[in-house]
Order: sequence, then structure tokens, then C-alpha cells
Amino acid sequence: MDPYPKPLKDLISQLRRLPGIGEKTAARLALFIIGDRENLAGDLSRSLSTVKDSIRLCSACFTLADAPRCPICSDPTRDPSIICVVEEPSDVLALESAHSYKGLYHVLHGLISPINGIGPEDIRLSELMERLSRREVSEVIVATNPSVEGEGTFHFIARLVEDAKLPVKVSRIASGIPMGGELKYMDQVTLASALRYRRNAKDR
Ligand SMILES: [Zn+2]
Repeated sequence: MDPYPKPLKDLISQLRRLPGIGEKTAARLALFIIGDRENLAGDLSRSLSTVKDSIRLCSACFTLADAPRCPICSDPTRDPSIICVVEEPSDVLALESAHSYKGLYHVLHGLISPINGIGPEDIRLSELMERLSRREVSEVIVATNPSVEGEGTFHFIARLVEDAKLPVKVSRIASGIPMGGELKYMDQVTLASALRYRRNAKDR
């Protein structure tokens, strides 16, 4: 016999769809939520039903925003001549937590991965080239994860910029991020030094 009533079982199976959540953790979270601590269940359900509609992508850098432009792109103190290219919005959050970067971002929403059938046209590369063609950018720092796809995407961007004959320096964060590591799990000091000791694409 199943120990859980059906609505609770449904909640557990929804929670299990989240990354890193197994059966036991899902059950523990579900029991915590329905424990009615300061109306957690009500607040959570309201947040969940509004978040999807109110969050959109920034029209300039494609990170998450609740307005046409994200707070970083709207900040006049940021340096618009440097663009840091990352794979996903969580990488922007990780790099921002290092408090050492003052330029803008560009979120690709994926990496080129021929083995998974993801080509350059499947990620936001044409939008990046469009931004670079406006001639306000002097450097692109490619901060994709140090994986095969991350390196491949870096070389692809470097070649695109070279072929377009744009006066833009392409550099790559490197130092301290191990091969196969992920930006979002790096500590702030490692991220700050990885940005500081970036290498020029021409030196590869
Ligand atoms: Zn933005």
C-alpha cells in the first residue's frame, strides 16, 4: 500500500522533475511545504504561477529580466565596450557574484555541439555578431565552460570575428577553471582571477 495520499504523491513526482532531487528529498520537501509554515504552500504556488509570465529575456543580452532591458544592460556605469559571452543566465549570476567585471554580457542559451545536433544557428550567435557589428565593442571575453563544446564555441566565435574583419579582440577565460568544470560551481576568487587572466584568441 502506498503511504502517501494522491495529491501529495503528485507533488512529490513534480518535485522529482527538478535537477538533483531524488525520491527521498522530494518527499521531504513535499512534507515541509504542506507543513504550512507561514503559508509557504500558498506563497510558493502564487510565485510559481506568476514567475513564468513575468520573466522574459533581455532584448540586448538575453539574460533573464522582468523588463525589456535587464538591470545590467540598463546600468549606465557598466562598460559597453566589453562583452562577456556565457552559455546560460546562471553564468551571469555566477560572474556577477565575483564583483570584478564591469562590462556587459551576452547569453548564448547553449553551446555548439555537433554530437547533439546543435549548430551555430541554434544559439544566439547571430545576435552577438549583430551587437559587434555596431562597432561599440572592443573586446569579447568568451566565458563558456571549459568543456569540448565550450572550447569549440570559443574558437568558432574567434573565427567569426576574424572573418568579419571586426576590430574586436576575442579573449578566453582560462586560469583556475578546470577542464570539465562549470562556472556556476566556481568560487568568487577563482572566477575573478579567471576573468583577469583571460587570454587573447590570437595566442591560441
Ligand atoms: Zn541585458
